[in-house]
Amino acid sequence: MPRVAIVTGGTRGIGEAICLALQKMGITVAANYGGDDVKAKEFSERTGIAVYRWDVGDHQACLDGCARVEDEIGAVDIVVNNAGITRDGTLARMSFEDWNDVMRVNLGGCFNMAKATFPGMVSRGWGRIVNIGSINGQAGQYGQVNYAAAKSGIHGFTKALAQEGAKKGVTVNAIAPGYIDTDMVAAVPADVLAKIVAKIPVGRLGHAREIARGVSFLVSENGGFVTGSTLSLNGGQHMY
Ligand code: NDP
Repeated sequence: MPRVAIVTGGTRGIGEAICLALQKMGITVAANYGGDDVKAKEFSERTGIAVYRWDVGDHQACLDGCARVEDEIGAVDIVVNNAGITRDGTLARMSFEDWNDVMRVNLGGCFNMAKATFPGMVSRGWGRIVNIGSINGQAGQYGQVNYAAAKSGIHGFTKALAQEGAKKGVTVNAIAPGYIDTDMVAAVPADVLAKIVAKIPVGRLGHAREIARGVSFLVSENGGFVTGSTLSLNGGQHMY
């Protein structure tokens, strides 16, 4: 039986590249998304990958959504917690809602998805969870106390859950991407982006497929000895 994976935020950007890479490995993929039905439909028709809409920040929605995937496709072996949002601003300008939305989706989503799927992985003796963190969770970033805190939290969450899964055949790892050429980075003002690229030793933004390759390794049988680890894929921007 092919493995079954859920990729949150899987219908565009880095998530789309991850879905395609896992599909190429023979894994049956379910792509979750947050609200853009048009984009999701176009993605599903183009790739043949089933799409499921729910808010990863909503605990019950994650339990229900994962149960639906299990009913329609099969037991979930692999979860890639990729869905993420930004609500940038200096502390003075950041509202509590901006703080809370980012914590709820980016960090809360990892907890919610693990609650829905980790017990099943443990009971079957095999599983893979990959959490998409960020260079800005490792190094901090001006105007991103919410995002940096949530992504930093993902790295701690990963190391803690990895200890619970280690003897049960379930690995839990994180990937910390640097700046990748997706819609999220397209929203960064051009002058700010130029300054960021100037600080990347390899001299360019990363590509979504380069993050997907890291995920492919971590979820493969060859990745079985890697757990509690953070793979920094950032063109040398933060050597950590
Ligand atoms: P995009 O903004 O391009 O895509 C985000 C995806 O997440 C979309 O599929 C979106 O769905 C989904 N999503 C957003 N909110 C929710 C939600 N509440 N519930 C379910 N799905 C949701 O993001 P990227 O591809 O750029 O980033 C992917 C991940 O990588 C994020 O976690 C991001 O923080 C991280 N990252 C990105 C970097 C970059 O340079 N791009 C750098 C470092 C980390 P919909 O289309 O329906 O809105």
